[in-house]
Amino acid sequence: MIGPAAFDHEPVELVDQMTAAISRVLRAPYRILGPEVEAFENQWAITCGVRHAVGVANGMDAIEIALRALKIGPGDEVITTPMTAFATVLAILRSGATPVLADIDPATAIMSLDSVHRCLTPRTRAVVLVHLYGYLTEMEPWLQLTSSHGVHLIEDCAQAHLAERNGHVAGSFGVAGAFSFYPTKNLGAIGDAGALVTNDAHMSEAARHLRNYGQTERYRHDVLGLNSRLDEMQAAILTERLGWLRSFTSRRQAIAQRYRSEINNTRVTMLQPGVDGANVCHLFVLLTSHRDALQAFLARNDVATVIHYPIPVHHQEPAHDVRRDPSGLSHAEHHGRSCLSLPCHPQLSDPQVEQVISLVNEFTP
Ligand SMILES: *Cc1c(COP(=O)(O)O)cnc(C)c1O
Repeated sequence: MIGPAAFDHEPVELVDQMTAAISRVLRAPYRILGPEVEAFENQWAITCGVRHAVGVANGMDAIEIALRALKIGPGDEVITTPMTAFATVLAILRSGATPVLADIDPATAIMSLDSVHRCLTPRTRAVVLVHLYGYLTEMEPWLQLTSSHGVHLIEDCAQAHLAERNGHVAGSFGVAGAFSFYPTKNLGAIGDAGALVTNDAHMSEAARHLRNYGQTERYRHDVLGLNSRLDEMQAAILTERLGWLRSFTSRRQAIAQRYRSEINNTRVTMLQPGVDGANVCHLFVLLTSHRDALQAFLARNDVATVIHYPIPVHHQEPAHDVRRDPSGLSHAEHHGRSCLSLPCHPQLSDPQVEQVISLVNEFTP
């Protein structure tokens, strides 16, 4: 079976490194928020080209913590996309703020600037831009839009580790970048983990308090915090896996490049972003009006695929009544009906990639 991940096929050297890391933690006097977390935070900040990285429990919390550090909450509006992991919107809801959904650009599936313009109100405090599928879009217009309207830009980088443009890495553009290290992400732990990155010392300081019950010094709680700490074992694992991230990313890009150049079935189309440094190919997404038939055909031939995402946020029960672009969200809805993610992870072998390509090319509805 070819599927969306293959943790049981990782390089033996990496497995040995992770085993040694776990053993190192077992023999150390710390379990949570200790020297392994600090070492990983330092490495991650350097990797992202920012001053501060704050380890947290997961990617969703990183978004909520960024919003709360900015004192965004009830009565405030935060614009984001309906084509994302539900966690993006759940984090906004949990901060107490009101999510407002902007439509996507159908060519990239990234949130549309024009639609965001239509969503802005005097109550807008922030825009959460999701670098969907690993693609870092042109950031200049987003920086212009947010600064000219006096709103904060938060980047949801859960799918975009290392994506870069002109030497600037995802997470370094906005006031904060939120990363998930869920196991299937480009950099993944062996459980839940996340980080917030920022160049802003106040953001970093506030995030450090918020992740730990709002504690500013031992047993003193000045703000309403969360329990969102990173533990030593996940941090030690992340440090080892970080050493592999560039080669794993190159492998994803090479697979995506083959899909782009060798899939020639006229019933499917590709999203526009090509494969370059701005696209770390977290997911490889095809569009087709025969999506369900293609997915079933691949499954019959032992290729498991996933849909990112079949139900846009505004069709989810807890988000039925969220505000949205007054012109509607038709591009996101259409995308949700036609997108299909082909297997694209570093452990796929060349013959497996070739098998996926020939199956997609053979497909007839
Ligand atoms: C995975 C993901 C999240 C949430 O991260 P968790 O670590 O699972 O909380 C948020 N946004 C996007 C775009 C994601 O892919």
